[in-house]
Amino acid sequence: HNNNLFIRVLMIMLLSCATIRVDFCFSSIPSSLKALPLEGNFSFNENEFAARDYGNQYHFLPLAVLHPKSVSDIAITIKHIWQMGPLSRLTVAARGHGHSTRGQALADQGIVINMESLREQKMQFNTGRFPYVDVSASELWIKILHESLKHGLAPKSWTDYLHLTVGGTLSNAGISGQAFRHGPQISNVHELEVVTGKGEVVNCSDKKNADLFQSVLGGLGQFGIITKARISLEPAPKMVKWVRVLYSDFSTFARDQEFLISSKKTFDYIEGLVIINRTDVLNNWRSSFSPQDPDQASKFISDGRTLYCLELTKNFNPDKVDTVNQEIESLLSKLSYIPSTLFMSEVSYIEFLDRVHTSELKLRSKGLWDVPHPWLNLLIPRSKIKAFSQGVFGNILKDTNSSPVLIYPVNKSKWDNRTSFVLPEEDIFYLVAFLFHAIPSSSGTDGLEHILTLNKRILEFCEVAHLGVKQYLAHYTTQEQWQVHFGQRWEVFVQRKLAYDPLAILAPGQRIFQKGI
Ligand code: FAD
Repeated sequence: HNNNLFIRVLMIMLLSCATIRVDFCFSSIPSSLKALPLEGNFSFNENEFAARDYGNQYHFLPLAVLHPKSVSDIAITIKHIWQMGPLSRLTVAARGHGHSTRGQALADQGIVINMESLREQKMQFNTGRFPYVDVSASELWIKILHESLKHGLAPKSWTDYLHLTVGGTLSNAGISGQAFRHGPQISNVHELEVVTGKGEVVNCSDKKNADLFQSVLGGLGQFGIITKARISLEPAPKMVKWVRVLYSDFSTFARDQEFLISSKKTFDYIEGLVIINRTDVLNNWRSSFSPQDPDQASKFISDGRTLYCLELTKNFNPDKVDTVNQEIESLLSKLSYIPSTLFMSEVSYIEFLDRVHTSELKLRSKGLWDVPHPWLNLLIPRSKIKAFSQGVFGNILKDTNSSPVLIYPVNKSKWDNRTSFVLPEEDIFYLVAFLFHAIPSSSGTDGLEHILTLNKRILEFCEVAHLGVKQYLAHYTTQEQWQVHFGQRWEVFVQRKLAYDPLAILAPGQRIFQKGI
């Protein structure tokens, strides 16, 4: 009995010592960080901006924010934390533009690296036969577009919104209406420079350190911090013909979308929108789009219905306007939309690509940009999209108010299955994006609670109906859920984590691995 008591007392003393040691280490961290030989600096106060993101639902204050001036600042900081070993609780999150929606770029009492302080590097263009640009991963896509256009070039694959960083979108995938043709942004990058979770700076590509290259693409920031990227470019068009047509039957809409993404001669951008119970949807478009048949369009009544809008663009240069008009006419003649709902517009390439920024400015002026964004993004196998639409549109989701709900198919053949990105089964899958925003003080249908319940019901429906859905920009709270998400790819993901960030220092906001466990 005495021996047992002795062992217990000894264990308590040892545990207390370990805790005191960790706490001691923790309290001495700011001074150890300040002592690092950096060109940039740490801030320990006024870091509120790094405690939030675009989703506006999570708030975790970091211990410090690193404002790096060079890649070596990032490497020195991570190496320092790596050398502290597993007992230190410090984690590191790269913060691109902070446009995640579920705290993915936050680090509770850890270090946030404010990647945007790196942005000073000049972009290096190669304008040869296979053009590309070398950029800092902290660069915003909008700036890359502006600079590329000076050389008559542009990246091939986009996101709908361009005020996001290269590192942020490459850590996810970067999907938009060009993905059916060019693949996502992660299929359009040749080389990366990465700082691993051990503080090593590594150049990687398909040929050199290929496993790290594939790991980091779609890797949710788990294997390294991307510091530079070589992005594939193509000749940029000057103008865009922008087309919108409506369907009331989902199957017809989906059939036309799939026909278009599988055709050789087709549009340059193909997306879709679901519109539920919105009055005067066509009238809202009239400021920027012209109806092909104004008389018939004015008679079209959208009240209360569930409609599907196919959104298309065709790029062109002004000297080829007749040719592009003929091509569009020929393609549209093969589709089965409601004839009176054909709307067209003509804008510059840059105006089209930066279109969401125009909406951002409008929403900001109404105080509707910095509100909670409980988004839900799903990837759905083609064979299940009809069941999904029947179960969700107009049933679980009774109206789309002013929140866009996007839906469009992409070809799996344009994705590289060696990256960390998890793809649904089947050759074609749909991206369905519920881009909800909540009104902060509302307890009604536009309030956060209501929308979160809606998201939960949609996910439960997918599970019960066995739709084989994967979340994009996924949010889970337990490792078991992540394991299910990755499925057979989980083992590879864990192996890669052990190889490149064995102490689980990086991207704690994704909640996949916990440091020290
Ligand atoms: P952050 O939110 O800052 O970071 C995202 C994650 O990546 C975090 O885990 C972070 O730690 C990690 N990270 C950031 N930088 C690096 C780096 N350099 N190296 C390694 N890890 C890093 N996505 C699409 O695919 N298609 C769309 O059309 C699209 N439209 C959007 C429209 C809007 C208005 C918004 C707000 C988002 C949209 N997104 C879209 C989602 C967007 O691609 C992701 O949220 C992306 O992560 C945002 O980039 P960011 O620079 O803000 O990254």
